[in-house]
Amino acid sequence: MNGASVHTTLRLLVVLIALPAFCNLGIPPARADVRTVTVGVYEDAPKIFTSESGKPSGIFIDIIAQIAHQEGWALRYVHGTWAQGLDRLAKGEIDLMPDVAYTPEREELYAFHKVPVLSVWSQVYARKGSGIQSILDLNGKRVAVLEKTIQFETFTRLANGFELKITLVPVPDYSTEFRMVADGKADAGITNRFYGLMNARKFGLEDTPVMFDPAPFFFAAPKNASRDLLDIIDRHLAEMKKDPRSAYYAALKRWTSEEVQFKLPPWLVYLGLVVGVVLVMSLAGSLVLKRKVTARTRELNRINDDLRAGEQRYRHLFEHNPAPMLIYQRGSLEMLAVNDAFVNHYGYSREEALKLILTDLYPDDEKEKIATVAAGLKGHAYVGEWHHRKADGTIITIMVRSHDIDYWGHNARIAVISDVTEMKRMEADLRQANETLDQKVHERTVALEQKNDELAGANEKLKEMDRLKSMFIASMSHELRTPLNSVIGYSSIIMNEWLGPVVPEQREKLAIVLRAGKHLLSLINDVIDVSKIEAGQLDVYVEEFDLFDLVADAVHQLEPDMRSKGLAFAVDNVHAQLRTDRRRLLQALLNVLSNAMKYTVEGSVHLSARLDGRWAEIAVCDTGIGIDEQEADKIFKPFVRIESPLRGTVPGTGLGLYLTHKLVGEILNGTIFFTNNTGQGTTFTIRVPADVGSAVYTGRKQ
Ligand code: ADP
Repeated sequence: MNGASVHTTLRLLVVLIALPAFCNLGIPPARADVRTVTVGVYEDAPKIFTSESGKPSGIFIDIIAQIAHQEGWALRYVHGTWAQGLDRLAKGEIDLMPDVAYTPEREELYAFHKVPVLSVWSQVYARKGSGIQSILDLNGKRVAVLEKTIQFETFTRLANGFELKITLVPVPDYSTEFRMVADGKADAGITNRFYGLMNARKFGLEDTPVMFDPAPFFFAAPKNASRDLLDIIDRHLAEMKKDPRSAYYAALKRWTSEEVQFKLPPWLVYLGLVVGVVLVMSLAGSLVLKRKVTARTRELNRINDDLRAGEQRYRHLFEHNPAPMLIYQRGSLEMLAVNDAFVNHYGYSREEALKLILTDLYPDDEKEKIATVAAGLKGHAYVGEWHHRKADGTIITIMVRSHDIDYWGHNARIAVISDVTEMKRMEADLRQANETLDQKVHERTVALEQKNDELAGANEKLKEMDRLKSMFIASMSHELRTPLNSVIGYSSIIMNEWLGPVVPEQREKLAIVLRAGKHLLSLINDVIDVSKIEAGQLDVYVEEFDLFDLVADAVHQLEPDMRSKGLAFAVDNVHAQLRTDRRRLLQALLNVLSNAMKYTVEGSVHLSARLDGRWAEIAVCDTGIGIDEQEADKIFKPFVRIESPLRGTVPGTGLGLYLTHKLVGEILNGTIFFTNNTGQGTTFTIRVPADVGSAVYTGRKQ
C-alpha cells in the first residue's frame, strides 16, 4: 500500500466515522427569554477558527450556530488560545468550549455531552521530502505538539513505547506549530487531521504516514453547569447525523471538502472503523517492520564490511609484522601460520615451516621442556626466554610472547619470536668487561698502593739523603774553609810584600788568586749556610742590639768599595733596640747592599733604616739595572742569575738572594721583597720583627 492510497483510506475513515444520519427535529426557539450561550473560540481550522474577516468559523461553529438558531440562543464568542479556553471553562467564565476530546481525566474537570461531534485522528506533518515514513524515523527529532492536549499525552506514550528519544516542543496553537516546522525550528508537528488537511500545503508541509489515536471530540461545559445545555446539543447532533442534507454534513463538506453522498448503517460504520484501524495498524506495523529489516540489513552489511576490513587489517598486521610470528595448534603443536619475517629470519620456506611442529624449532635439550610448558599455557600472555634452531642449524636466543587465539576455528596460540642473541652476547660481553674492569681497577689500586708505599719510602729516603747531604756539607765546612783561608791569607801576605818584594806580574797573578779564593769562600759559606738551614742545623743566636750600630757596621764594610766604584752612598739610620740574631740580619743586609753596588753602574745607593711599630725595616734603593718583571719570581730561587749585560763581568753565584730569603724568612721570621723604582733601579726591603720573641728559630726546620 503506497502513501496516496493510505491517504485515501484515512479520508474515507473520517467520513465513515461521521456518517450516522440525522433528522431535523424542527423544535421552535423559545423566543420569550433569549438565552445567551458563551462559546470559547481558538485557532484550530477547520474545526474552529477566526476567519479573515474576524468572524468565528469552522465545523464546530457552524454546528453550534445551527443549534443556537434552532433553540433561539444568542451566541457570544470569547477568543483565546486553546489553553485559555479550557481555563475559562474550568472557571465557569464560558458555557461551552468546542472541540474538546473526551478523557476520563477531563471528565473530572468538565461536563461532556454524549454524541461525538467528530472522531479525529492525530497525524504527523513534516516538511516536504522529510523522509519520515514511520514513528521510528522521529527518533532523535524535535516534534512540536499542542500543549495540554490529548495528542501530547498519547504521543508521549507512543514514543516511550518505542523507546524513542523525541524532543517534544510544546506550542500554544497549530499555526505556530506549522510555522516552526516550516522554519526548521521543529522537525515535525502533530495536528489533528482536519487542521492538517486544510493548512499543511500553505506551510509547505506534507502529511506523513504516522497517524494515531482517533479521538471523539465534543463541546465541553463547566463541570457544575446544568445538563440541559448538553442534552440539547446531544439531541440536535443525533438528529443532524441522521440526515445527509443536514447542517452537520454541510459543515463537514464546507470545511473539509469531503463529499458525503451516501449513508451506511451503524454496524458497517463500526466494522469499517475496526477494519480501518486494523489496516492502519498492519500498515504501520509492516512499515515499521520493513524499516527495521532494512536498518538491520544495513547494520549487518556494515558489520560485515567492518569485520572484513578488520580481518584484513589483522592479516596485514600479522603478515607484514617486522617481528617473526607464528601460530600453532594448541595440543598437537602443529604450525598453522608463519609470517614473512619468520620465513626471512629462520630460513625455512613457508611450506617447510608449516610442516613443522613447535618443538622442531627448539634445540634437543629444550624440546621436552617446551612441550611441557606449551601444554600448560592457557589464555594468559606468556613471556619467556628460549633457544631456537634456524633452518641452517644456527642456535639463537629468543624472547617469546604468546597468548591464545581462535585461528579460523582452531584452538591456537600466537607467538611473537624476538631474536635477542646479539643482545645476550652484548650483555655477556658487558658483564665480562665489567668483571675485567673490576679486576683491573682492583689490580691498579693494589699497584697504586704499592707505588704509594714505594713513593713514601723513596720520599723518606730522599729526605734522609737530603739531610745527609746537608750534614755532609755542613761537616765539610771546616775542611773546605781551612785550606781556603790559607790560600786567601798567604796570597794576601805575599801581595802586600810582607815577605819581600814581588814583581808587578806576580802581583797581578796573586790578585787573581786572592779574588778567586774570596769568591770560592763566599760560595762555600753560602752553600754551607743553605745546607745548614735545610738540615735544620743552623744555630741561632738571639741578642739585644741597636739597629743603628748594625746599619753602621754594614755601611762601614761596604762604603770603601762604593766610593771606589764612584757611587754616591746615602744612609738614613735610626736608633732602635732589637732582639734577634744580629749576625744573620747583618749577613742579609750585606747581601742586599753588595747586590745594589754590583748591579749599579753609576748613580747612588740609598740605605734607610726605620722602626715600623714592632717591625724593623731596612730598605736599599739603587739606581742600577733593575729587574725584569717577568724574571721577578725567579730571583729568590737557588743559582738563578738574570740575563743582563753585567752578568759576565759581575761576580756572583746566584745563591745570595736564595740564602737571604731563607735567613729572613726562616731564621728572622720576617720577609724580603723588592720593587723596581719608578725612575731607575730597584729597592729591596728587609722587614723583620724587632723582637724575634717566642717564634725564635729553634735550630730545626718546622
Ligand atoms: P748573584 O750572586 O748573582 O748576585 P743573587 O742571588 O744575589 O746572585 O742575585 C740573583 C740575581 O738577582 C742576580 O744575578 C741579579 O741578576 C739579580 N739582582 C739581585 N740584586 C739586584 C739589584 N740590586 N739590581 C739588579 N739586579 C739584581
